[in-house]
Amino acid sequence: MSRRSRPRVRPEAALQERLDHYTDKSAGPDGCWLWKGFLNEHGYGGVRWQGRWQRAHRLSFEAAKGPIPEGGHILHRCDNPPCVNPAHLHAGSHRDNMRDMYAKGRRRPPAGERNVNAKLTAEMVLAIRVATGSQNEIGNYFGITPATVSKIKLGRLWRHLPASDAMAADRRPKGELVLAPTSNAQFTEAA
Ligand SMILES: [Zn+2]
Repeated sequence: MSRRSRPRVRPEAALQERLDHYTDKSAGPDGCWLWKGFLNEHGYGGVRWQGRWQRAHRLSFEAAKGPIPEGGHILHRCDNPPCVNPAHLHAGSHRDNMRDMYAKGRRRPPAGERNVNAKLTAEMVLAIRVATGSQNEIGNYFGITPATVSKIKLGRLWRHLPASDAMAADRRPKGELVLAPTSNAQFTEAA
């Protein structure tokens, strides 16, 4: 057998490897495992897997416990959105999720990824500017149209924002949609 032949990697093993790459487990098995990759404006981790952007905590749950039931939501026992420790995650319904959010006093408007009217935050704009990948992929992730992605990248929208110091996109592997963490971004949002 040639040394060049690719070892067959089980999809589950590949997923676990990808998740591990972005997971800080330094808090130990019982602690919160923090996502080191991209975090959206609500603090949830995102990662590209099998050609699309997915929530990191959902993938972590699936890798550890199996497929998420149809329509299932994955809730944090620890109330810590960037946490991906499967021991802190449990499956629930949309109703559970809403009840959970109300109970924890963090009900937010449904400005979710799919909402075309989602208000972009300055942080998201900076992340979009450094994201690599197709405009469709980026648009899907942020809930905006590919045309809007294009305008942001070309500086026709949000031109008041300074170019981010996190412009490391060029050093990243080609062919991956990578969103730079922007949690340290400093900027002033214009009216
Ligand atoms: Zn946790």
